[in-house]
Amino acid sequence: ESALAARYLSTDGDTETGLRPTSLDDFIGQPRVREQLALVLRGARQRGATPDHVLLSGPPGLGKTSMAMIIAGELGTALRITSGPALERAGDLAAMLSNLVEGDVLFIDEIHRMARPAEEMLYLAMEDFRVDVVVGKGPGATSIPLDIAPFTLVGATTRSGALTGPLRDRFGFTGHMDFYDTDELLQILLRSARILGVHIEHDAAAEVAGRSRGTPRIANRLLRRVRDFAEVRADGLITREIAQSALEVYDVDVLGLDRLDRAVLGALVRGFGGGPVGVSTLAVAVGEEAATVEEVCEPFLVRAGLVARTPRGRVATAAAWEHLGLVPPPDLVF
Ligand code: ADP
Repeated sequence: ESALAARYLSTDGDTETGLRPTSLDDFIGQPRVREQLALVLRGARQRGATPDHVLLSGPPGLGKTSMAMIIAGELGTALRITSGPALERAGDLAAMLSNLVEGDVLFIDEIHRMARPAEEMLYLAMEDFRVDVVVGKGPGATSIPLDIAPFTLVGATTRSGALTGPLRDRFGFTGHMDFYDTDELLQILLRSARILGVHIEHDAAAEVAGRSRGTPRIANRLLRRVRDFAEVRADGLITREIAQSALEVYDVDVLGLDRLDRAVLGALVRGFGGGPVGVSTLAVAVGEEAATVEEVCEPFLVRAGLVARTPRGRVATAAAWEHLGLVPPPDLVF
């Protein structure tokens, strides 16, 4: 077995599957979305109907996919998974839709990245459970209506603002997933440690929770990296000191900023004097795609109070200057 194959095939407990919550009760955090969804699902069940389509929005790693799985689980139906970028041609979507069985949950991740023809086909499917399949080309082309089984669409997006109006309007419910607070992340970490059989002290878990960027996926990833450190450099027990040393090795700072976050902040402060500057300019400065900076870094930097959005662009706050060990300019208003 080559080293490369080993790297890709070996799971090493690094899969996310085992750590996913499996029911609404098992899902930690997002109390509003959970309560709202529970009502949507129970209401539909009482009427014996298929629940309305659900849109889940929020930054990556907050549990949108997990929530889609839970919805299918709570309904006792199958979950079909696809993503916006995978639905390049309307035919791809038609094939997916016509294979659905009544009550199925169709999950479309990154739904804002769906191609236009597929999106237009989806309107009709969501509203009338019907697709129009176009046969032939040119003036002789005809469209054949095809019934599809009633299903529930769960769409996930990191940019609900990028959805077209007609698509957004066809969702009966939109749940906004927000960053988790440290206490929720602590509970998630203690649960994951239990599942993985990792020994972690309470204050060590709190330390990891505080540096997880408000994101469960990052919390779980850091837990596995801290476990590596504890097993290789110590006796396996994760204490607070072990956690701190490990996080230093992995370049995760006290606020949970990773290299890219710090690069963006550094460019904003040092390269552009604190702003205002546009996201795409910042992205070029750090050699990243604008979408990554806008959807992954920026929401957390804003939430952490390090970056402010203004009509003229992004501005570093006084806290950002101080976090980088610099003195904020005296005329700074943020
Ligand atoms: P998204 O689809 O929003 O990117 P995922 O649903 O894939 O996020 O979640 C990423 C990982 O974080 C999952 O593997 C899961 O283990 C973990 N996770 C997310 N939300 C929770 C939660 N509320 N409780 C426990 N674990 C969670």
